[in-house]
Amino acid sequence: MIEKTRSWLLGSRDNPQQYTQHAVQLIVFVAFLYAAAINYVTSASGYINICIQLAMSISTLGIWYRSRWHNEYQRMAITFMVMITTITLPINWFLNGGSFGPTFFLNICVFMYISVAFRKNPYYRYFGQSFAALVPIPLVMIEYYHPEWISTYPNNETRLIDLASTSVVTSIFMLLMMENLTKKFHLRHSKVEQLSEQLRQLSERDSLTGLLNRRAFESSFTEWKETKECLTIAAVDLDFFKKINDQWGHYYGDEVLINSSTQLSEMSKDTGSLAFRTGGEEFMLMMPCTLNEAYQHIQILHDRFAKMKLLNGPVTFSSGLAEVKPDESQDQFLKRVDRLLYQAKNQGRNCTVVE
Ligand code: GH3
Ligand code: MG
Ligand code: MG
Repeated sequence: MIEKTRSWLLGSRDNPQQYTQHAVQLIVFVAFLYAAAINYVTSASGYINICIQLAMSISTLGIWYRSRWHNEYQRMAITFMVMITTITLPINWFLNGGSFGPTFFLNICVFMYISVAFRKNPYYRYFGQSFAALVPIPLVMIEYYHPEWISTYPNNETRLIDLASTSVVTSIFMLLMMENLTKKFHLRHSKVEQLSEQLRQLSERDSLTGLLNRRAFESSFTEWKETKECLTIAAVDLDFFKKINDQWGHYYGDEVLINSSTQLSEMSKDTGSLAFRTGGEEFMLMMPCTLNEAYQHIQILHDRFAKMKLLNGPVTFSSGLAEVKPDESQDQFLKRVDRLLYQAKNQGRNCTVVE
């Protein structure tokens, strides 16, 4: 029920800018209404002041209404900014003791409000902030030359109460605004984190086959080695792939690469391994198992390739298979496994050579 009323009054929480803007407008509406009522009940100020406060209150309510229910958020934010800087602040100055009253506090609130409400609109923000910063200057000058224009407090006690209560209201207001800014910062921060994670994932994927790429291979190799767990890697290279390209065309070649990658990917899922496309028709399989177990996996992969349904018949691959030694660098390992792959090619292809 409270949540429903709140969203009816302020709009969706997902839009913190409008949400806070509506909250501020309603606070200002209530504050003016309250001030008018207090002045009327205690007869602290004349009818003209009470009428001005009522007019301010009703205008602010109108601004909230058009902003909240007529989608005029931006226009009403500007109207509200102009109203408080050019009318509300000066009136408050004249009615509430000038520089002895709480207008300076309110001026700071206005400054902060403009910073938040026009965060996405630097033109209005700079203009509004400059205006709010300069407003006290003419007011101070008027007070200097025409002190009689400023209405004074009936006694010092009333002035101190006014100052203290405005200071409390200012603090709450500043808290609200800062909360709004922090919320926006957090929203943006989590969005940035989400995007950078997406980017990272994209940068580690090969666009043609969807397999992890060479960059991912390098980082996975380093990470896996740090765990000091058993790791066997197969360097896989399709046989006579150039011929396939030459004979059936590059698009067909791509088709073969995609189908081969599916086999590698399914095999890696079944065995808890990782499959990478590290070059044109070159792949790596990282298997968290012993050399013997990995050899069995690769034999199954040879069988899967033999059964692959391709328009121009199945393709084969050759591979070199070796277990990573604990003290071995990535380069040293790759040289070793490449030599094994070369041997497999020399032995007539469609086979796997183990060290
Ligand atoms: P071998 O059995 O000795 O490995 O011979 P091969 O023909 O497979 O090896 P080679 O390295 O001579 O040829 C690889 C070919 O792969 C050459 C290149 O045009 C092709 N290739 C590389 N990347 C792609 C790609 O993304 N798509 C297609 N269709 N072809 C590619
Ligand atoms: Mg090759
Ligand atoms: Mg090849």
